[in-house]
Amino acid sequence: MEQLYLTECVYEEEKQRIISYFSKDPYSNKYDFVYKEKFNPYFYIDLPKEVVQKLLSDFKREVNIEKIEKNKIKVIAKNKETLNKIYKILSISTSKNILILDIEREYLIEKEWSYYDLFIIVSKTRIKKIENNNISSIVKKYINPFLKEEQLKLIENLTKKLLLSNILKIKIKNINNQEILNNFFENLYFENKMMLNNKISIEYLEKEKNIRQGIKMDFSNIWPYLLTKDFYNIGHDTLNCDCCKPKNYLDINVLSNSIVKVRFKKQGFYFISKDQKWAYEQFHQENINKENRINFKKNNGLKEMPTGPFYKGDFASIPLIDAVNLVSEEEIEIIDNLDEIKWYCLKKESFLSIKIKEYLKRLKYLETSINLSNSFNYNYSFKNNLEQNPMFIQYLTEYKLINDLIEEIPKFIEHKNTKFYDSLLAQSIKYLKLETIKKIDVNENKYLIDKEKVIVKEKKIIEKINNYFPQLNLPIPKLIVN
Ligand SMILES: [Zn+2]
Repeated sequence: MEQLYLTECVYEEEKQRIISYFSKDPYSNKYDFVYKEKFNPYFYIDLPKEVVQKLLSDFKREVNIEKIEKNKIKVIAKNKETLNKIYKILSISTSKNILILDIEREYLIEKEWSYYDLFIIVSKTRIKKIENNNISSIVKKYINPFLKEEQLKLIENLTKKLLLSNILKIKIKNINNQEILNNFFENLYFENKMMLNNKISIEYLEKEKNIRQGIKMDFSNIWPYLLTKDFYNIGHDTLNCDCCKPKNYLDINVLSNSIVKVRFKKQGFYFISKDQKWAYEQFHQENINKENRINFKKNNGLKEMPTGPFYKGDFASIPLIDAVNLVSEEEIEIIDNLDEIKWYCLKKESFLSIKIKEYLKRLKYLETSINLSNSFNYNYSFKNNLEQNPMFIQYLTEYKLINDLIEEIPKFIEHKNTKFYDSLLAQSIKYLKLETIKKIDVNENKYLIDKEKVIVKEKKIIEKINNYFPQLNLPIPKLIVN
């Protein structure tokens, strides 16, 4: 049976439909099959149905309002023009941050299709998807007529363009890192009917801080794994769920960014919090005895801001990550551990976890392919192989692209200036990092976390790090040499 690639998707305003073009050869301008389907664009909003109905009462005929779940409404517009109008009305009158996508992208998400997916024709009017992406076979076909030298020049760009079009469901021309991540999250949110927080979106930019001296290690390859259900199951849809509320702070799904109420056992006691942002911006700013803390810091030559002073019988609310340490050292007792507890779901896998695992699986496959194409050319030297084998370059390009995308996910979530920012989610990731580092090096503060980088001040800790992660079936963090 003939196999066709989806190569083009166009919305037709007049007839309110999407026309999809399929082709045997994605690089010819010829189409072998055209599929037309009615489609009405839509968005989700978290308002009561009656409120939306009232606000859009002028559009009765052009809008359909469906209740999805409690306080979640799907607003379907007749066409693009109406969609844009009602989008404006609702955003302005409710100050909600509503997510809408290009209509073609909305359609592809709903169909679970994407560019360069593989299809077969079922009948004159029906088509069926059979495979997700088959980038390498397209690349192969495309570069085939060229001389080898030319092939090697073409392959990287071609792979990137095809793969990103497939992942993001948009036809890629030029795209930067920020746009890739933004598109990626837009799709994820839309697909999972998630709401945006009501914040204005600014640009997502990575800023490099000046890093103090020490041995730098890059943990960005570790963090995505920890978001998956195999570890913490962190996601917009799995934090503080209704189904798995813990009974005690010791329960497995409790996050260390929970705040617990504690009673101190000693006189004039200070401790150094693992969360220095909390120690500075919250505890220090909001509590009396500022002078004492500053003096204690100075007199003891501390780089960190101490939390205290506490006296026997004093109560305070502190992060669980600190409380657990202090309990084991018998400095405090935990009085109330359920007041501000935070947890992740043990049942439902977060949509982030599903995506990350899907890509990790793809990476595993590519790793095998790289090794295979490597051994195929066993007689050549490695350098030779890298430069001479087009498939090797193709796999390598794909590997790097997917790997970069996965590593950017936690960074993107933690970044304040995106429309997807969620403080609880960002904080949970931050603590999951602190928790991980704490597990490697329990008692000493000989490291510093700066975004995804960890600066280790002692060489022996590197050895600990290199032993710790493989035990969990995780890769080893990268050493940064510069
Ligand atoms: Zn749950």
